[in-house]
Amino acid sequence: MDRLDAQSVANLLDELGRRLELTGESSFKVRAYHNGAEALRALDVPLADLIASRRLESLPGVGKALSEKIQSLHKTGTHLMLERLRSEVPDGLLELFALPGLGAKKVLALRDAGIVGIDALEAAIDDGRVAALKGFGPKLAGSLKAALPFARGAQGRRRMPEADAALAQALEKIRAWPGVERAEAAGEARRRCESVGTLEAVAATTDPAAVAERARELSGVRVIAADPKRFGAALVCASSAPAHLEGLRRRAAKLGIALGPDGALRGGKPCPTPDEASVYALLELPPIAPELREGLGELEAAEAGKLPKLLEERDLKGILHCHSTYSDGMQSVAQMAEAARALGMRYFGIADHSQSARYAGGLTPERVLQQHAEVDELNARYASEGVDFRIFKGIESDIREDGSLDYDDAMLARFDFVVASVHSQFQLDLEAQTKRICRAAAHPACTILGHPTGRLLLKREGYALDMERVLAACAKHGVAVEINAHPYRLDMDWRWHRRALELGAWLSVNPDAHETGELPMRYGVAMARKGGVSADRVLNALDRGGLEKWLERKRKQALKP
Ligand SMILES: [Zn+2]
Ligand SMILES: [Zn+2]
Repeated sequence: MDRLDAQSVANLLDELGRRLELTGESSFKVRAYHNGAEALRALDVPLADLIASRRLESLPGVGKALSEKIQSLHKTGTHLMLERLRSEVPDGLLELFALPGLGAKKVLALRDAGIVGIDALEAAIDDGRVAALKGFGPKLAGSLKAALPFARGAQGRRRMPEADAALAQALEKIRAWPGVERAEAAGEARRRCESVGTLEAVAATTDPAAVAERARELSGVRVIAADPKRFGAALVCASSAPAHLEGLRRRAAKLGIALGPDGALRGGKPCPTPDEASVYALLELPPIAPELREGLGELEAAEAGKLPKLLEERDLKGILHCHSTYSDGMQSVAQMAEAARALGMRYFGIADHSQSARYAGGLTPERVLQQHAEVDELNARYASEGVDFRIFKGIESDIREDGSLDYDDAMLARFDFVVASVHSQFQLDLEAQTKRICRAAAHPACTILGHPTGRLLLKREGYALDMERVLAACAKHGVAVEINAHPYRLDMDWRWHRRALELGAWLSVNPDAHETGELPMRYGVAMARKGGVSADRVLNALDRGGLEKWLERKRKQALKP
């Protein structure tokens, strides 16, 4: 069999760690496996090279024992210890372990009560057994019940970076198969969905039987073989949401064309569709970007010539909302700014945590002033060297429970921009949470609403919120709504982007970077594209002068009674 890549080995190490924890093993031993997984995910060389040059043990946290396991997983896809744990710890326990509020101890208590797996848990919640268990109670039973639909939806899905990495490695292999002319990602990954279930690829080949044979060795990726003359039709069909495909088929039928993964037929005769553009041209439409193929009005927009010009990475001129060592970041302000400059940016906005975020080293007023002096010095240096670059002084101000912002107004007025974010009291009811955030947006100092729903993809649902009212408040008060580009957040959800624009709000694609490696905003741009966003309403697509004017206007508007 094929050797496993670093990504797949990392996933197995995580599985090993989780199963081990469910045997009651100490958290110290368990953490070693998750740390090893992290180290493998951060690799920038192929795992095989590292093993060949015997440098595995140079990775942080990888000792002799872990190195031996990584090599076995890489080579054979498994390890004796993993096999043993798989038979000792059933998958149903892992399902429970993924639920919020269930640590290893509680999962084992459920097991002892004969409750294993999500379905068994639901039944036991419904008949009152969970609430009656020692250490559980009706409150936890209620919140577990509420988490079940989300947990079921998250099963078997992965975030964008993991999906992209797995697909990139699969595509590299597929493209090397004999007879394959080209191969592309398809499905949800190609549509840039915020999380991906099945991994899919389409391969153009003159020998579909050979591809089908090879595809059997490729675990975890569905490979569709297509005739090169009909590659476009196969790719469109494999990358569209059902509603988009349905719309395309209806339109094709009106034009006397039968469209399917095997190509397009007019009057029984095949029409060549070597690429995706030729499929849309055949249907008398401009090409529709894969991100938009959801069946949410994009076909009507294409017919009317009103497709948005989607945001591109190169449209972004600056980076706002980043952290430094002042709070919970890994690098200094200067290092982060320089890394932003190296990415071609013209400005950088520091936004460390505010004082009430004690868990994240939030800044006291004294530390803020110290940081501002440092920023002034750095900016003076840029100016004296004739470098067209500016660091903007920002802060990620905690939204308090009552909707007020952290720091007093005099302090808040010292910042160039303020990202207001919720980091606590996630459980408020919809009305209280909505009022809280609308009040924060109405604060004159508020510039950007940070990660508006607080969701963590595949892990935690966003808090209860009336998004319509929140977006209307942001639009009214000239507050930009963040599209948090961190692949764990991607918040606000792309399904709300168009509504935000309709209401008149600005958007801002922010990396929320805690280290230089997190500065690129590709996943945020992917979300903005998916939401149908153009550059002209994105705050950090403004050039530096444009942003300065925007901030000045916002300041004046806020001062008006
Ligand atoms: Zn935050
Ligand atoms: Zn942040």
